[in-house]
Amino acid sequence: MSEAQKVLLVTGGSRGIGAAVCRLGAKAGYRVAVNYASNKAAADALVGEIKAAGGDAFAVKGDVGSEADILSMFEAVDRTYGRLDVFVNNAGIVDAKARVEEMSAARLERMMRINVVGSILCAREAVKRMSTRHGGKGGAIVNISSAAAVLGAPDNYVDYAASKGAIDTFTIGLAREVALEGIRVNAVRPGIIDTDIHASGGQPDRVALIQDTLPMKRAGTADEVAGAVLYLLSDAASYTTGAILNVSGGR
Ligand code: NAP
Repeated sequence: MSEAQKVLLVTGGSRGIGAAVCRLGAKAGYRVAVNYASNKAAADALVGEIKAAGGDAFAVKGDVGSEADILSMFEAVDRTYGRLDVFVNNAGIVDAKARVEEMSAARLERMMRINVVGSILCAREAVKRMSTRHGGKGGAIVNISSAAAVLGAPDNYVDYAASKGAIDTFTIGLAREVALEGIRVNAVRPGIIDTDIHASGGQPDRVALIQDTLPMKRAGTADEVAGAVLYLLSDAASYTTGAILNVSGGR
């Protein structure tokens, strides 16, 4: 099947790494469902940009921290495109810089609900649609982890790092669980990437402060992460599943 007919859903697809994945996916010929949480203007702008370039996309609102929102997001893809071929579990949050002894239960529950429970529930919905066990035609899933999963993010956000460690383990387990059902599941571990996420965690100057300590002495770009994601989604990666690819500039 040509990629021109295939459908890609990206959570948190309206800004940052997710938006780069949507743009590159549209360029590769996927029809793209762009999920966002609250910033409709950014999502609409990206959809307009993809359409202006000759692609097909639509924006779908939904908080991956809510099971009801996840269900309606997948149903919107069903209604609009009638199929789902590839899925990127990208939406994720950080929180303010803090030590573990300063973290509240509410903070930890929000972090795990969005980054871990949300990702697993989204994957559940993707598997229901893709798995040959459920009458699907197969597909591919890429989970966005983080170099923090390996580094631990001490004095910064160990809770976030732990949530991404869970994504790594989930990737390995789900990959093996659905390997015979036509679905490949992989993850990408970005390093420091120049997006708004640092400002949303209260550290707008994080990239500038940290870049000289990085092996390449620069942050990565969202496009550099998107290239790896598109590879893992594509048939060029047909024998790759359960892999976790560092896109971290050697960090
Ligand atoms: P970003 O620039 O902050 O973009 C966030 C995107 O996710 C926006 O589209 C936002 O929608 C959406 N979003 C936020 N919370 C959501 C929720 N609860 N439900 C649905 N969508 C939600 O983030 P980013 O830097 O591109 O990060 C994307 C992923 O890469 C995350 O999983 C992050 O942990 C991971 N990552 C990033 C870096 C980095 O240095 N940037 C490094 C390693 C891993 P709205 O516009 O509506 O808010």
